[in-house]
Amino acid sequence: MINRKFLIAGNWKMNGMFDSISEVCKIDQYSKKLNCDLALCLPNTIIYKAHENISHEKLIIGAQNCHHEESGAFTGDISAKMLKNAGAKVIIVGHSERRQNYFENNELINRKATSVINSGLQVIICIGETEEEKNNGQTNDVVCSQLRNSIPVISNGENTVIAYEPIWAIGTGRIPSLKEIQGVHSQLRLLITEIKGTETANKMRILYGGSVKPNNAKDIFALEDVDGALVGGASLKSEDFLGIANLCP
Ligand code: PEP
Repeated sequence: MINRKFLIAGNWKMNGMFDSISEVCKIDQYSKKLNCDLALCLPNTIIYKAHENISHEKLIIGAQNCHHEESGAFTGDISAKMLKNAGAKVIIVGHSERRQNYFENNELINRKATSVINSGLQVIICIGETEEEKNNGQTNDVVCSQLRNSIPVISNGENTVIAYEPIWAIGTGRIPSLKEIQGVHSQLRLLITEIKGTETANKMRILYGGSVKPNNAKDIFALEDVDGALVGGASLKSEDFLGIANLCP
């Protein structure tokens, strides 16, 4: 049995003001007692303030998206290097809300992920199928194609984390069966083995995301190829987020 350290990453999406830093501080304080790694991917406007206010022991601060170039004439955009400068240590790319709302494709996500890694940060690459694709029995084909095309050549077990997030499970309170989650994760690990080799596949963490709550996390975390969670709604309240993190084996 291979021991990968669990990662619980929160995605605050478009939520959070300066006064939310108190929640970040509560998570930071409590995180020292935990065995897992913790990350909070915050809105860009509060990354620096969060960075200034945490102990940097177990908790890292991150962002939810970045531009694929380092700098230039891209009005309104922000690069991985700039986010690093503000205190980010990890950046999510390819979240389904960006794939759907901004038509981001695997090629662009690959470029963004490459830019994150080249900036010296960790990247969380999100993949996941729609409900229609699931119902048509296409889940494995869809997520494997997303992973194959969005994972950078320079990815390794340290700089890259994969998050499997069925789109129909995000924010809905519905999750796949445990057997389905393990089935997808083991398929993804096989593909990483094929692309990157066994050593990298054994190291690379694969998170599950989609309606993870304190009442369902324990069973999900017991699955062999699940190495943590990407948590949306339940990451906004420190009690819920820490309640999930506490269940890491
Ligand atoms: C997400 O948006 O990445 C997510 C997993 O959301 P939720 O936990 O709210 O389903």
